[in-house]
Amino acid sequence: MSAGSPTPHAQPFYCPYCGEQDIRPGEEERTYHCLRCDRLWELRFRKLGG
Ligand SMILES: [Zn+2]
Repeated sequence: MSAGSPTPHAQPFYCPYCGEQDIRPGEEERTYHCLRCDRLWELRFRKLGG
């Protein structure tokens, strides 16, 4: 077993604002920058359903 492996964080497939796929990780963790609409947003986990 390998301990301490980084948790893989899923990258969104497309921009939630314009729907384009030209996105890249932002400078800060969990932030993404859309190159089409130039929006910078944060993707964060809130809670499990229920
Ligand atoms: Zn966009």
